[in-house]
Amino acid sequence: MKSLCYAWDAFSYFLYSTPPKAYNVPALKGETKNSREHMAPGDRKPGHSSCPTAGKVMKEEENEQIIQANPPEAPRRDPKQDVLGGLRELTPKRLRLLLVGKTGSGKSATGNSILGRREFESRLSTRPVTRALQKGRRRWAGKELEVIDTPDILSPHVPLEVAAGGISEAIAFSSPGPHAVLLVTQLGRFTAEDQAVVWRLQEAFGVGILAYTILVFTRKEDLGGGSLDQYLRETDNWELAWLDVVCARRHCGFDNRAQGVRQEAQLQELMEKIEGVLWENEGQCYSNRAYLYSQQIARPKGLQARPAAEGPGWEEALSEQPWREGLRQVQKESEETHRRPLGRALV
Ligand code: GDP
Ligand code: MG
Repeated sequence: MKSLCYAWDAFSYFLYSTPPKAYNVPALKGETKNSREHMAPGDRKPGHSSCPTAGKVMKEEENEQIIQANPPEAPRRDPKQDVLGGLRELTPKRLRLLLVGKTGSGKSATGNSILGRREFESRLSTRPVTRALQKGRRRWAGKELEVIDTPDILSPHVPLEVAAGGISEAIAFSSPGPHAVLLVTQLGRFTAEDQAVVWRLQEAFGVGILAYTILVFTRKEDLGGGSLDQYLRETDNWELAWLDVVCARRHCGFDNRAQGVRQEAQLQELMEKIEGVLWENEGQCYSNRAYLYSQQIARPKGLQARPAAEGPGWEEALSEQPWREGLRQVQKESEETHRRPLGRALV
């Protein structure tokens, strides 16, 4: 039903407007369960029969089904449990959330709001503050949320060589793939640079990534109590409006200065959107050729399954030079493939 509504939204929008060349419209039907059809060639969802390696290498924990019987005598359920309650059978215990967006959009601040503590450095600066990939974890409603903060890897002004290295690192760091990508932009400031980031996101990860993307708007307080939904429906920023439709209107706002109950309410809202992404994608994380490669390890006899992420031997495996070079190569080839449906040369 949800899919039908989104499909209708997208369809009616399509009727009255022409999509910008920037988006590959059919690919964005990735909001349905059949997203694999709309991915770039070579991209696959893990855990499916079409993915021979992912099932083998995925941590057992990833596949662990959540079975939390709700005792009939329980008078009242924790509202947090309700968010993911409907997906108890589907969702993995650990959810990887990948923060992306241009520098200064508020990625690190949003990561801190999700974690409920100041884990990542966040401040106003003319130069990028976050210089390396970082991870923070917290438990929430029986889940382990793994929040991955990224430096500027997708902005058009980042030199291509640096960006290529950064993207490969981000893939290794978020392997076997993110369950949701949080595309962070500042409310009221969706510029050409943000648009370029969306482009690069698709080029780097594949067009199917938008089926896993949630738009996160920082400085929600600037709405002054107004509705984000209404803001997005009425915006005259055509590219933003289209992106919102393409992301099946999965959006939420964050006031990263908020604390306590207000901070928790924002996280609750985000988790509802993540529930939608998990539902549409059958609880699977996003995967593509580079992610599949990242789960293997270069050995003299060829590629073998990598040690489980952050398990014993993981650090050593990550620093292996042939493996890193191999990942870069796979990523480079994948980007060529991803660029084709986008119909445009690299910026
Ligand atoms: P990043 O480069 O994307 O990681 O951005 P940062 O997290 O470092 O944030 C850049 C600046 O924006 C910092 O000064 C933050 O305090 C500020 N900021 C981020 N989110 C919000 C918000 O929701 N409200 C306000 N008022 N400031 C914010
Ligand atoms: Mg940052």
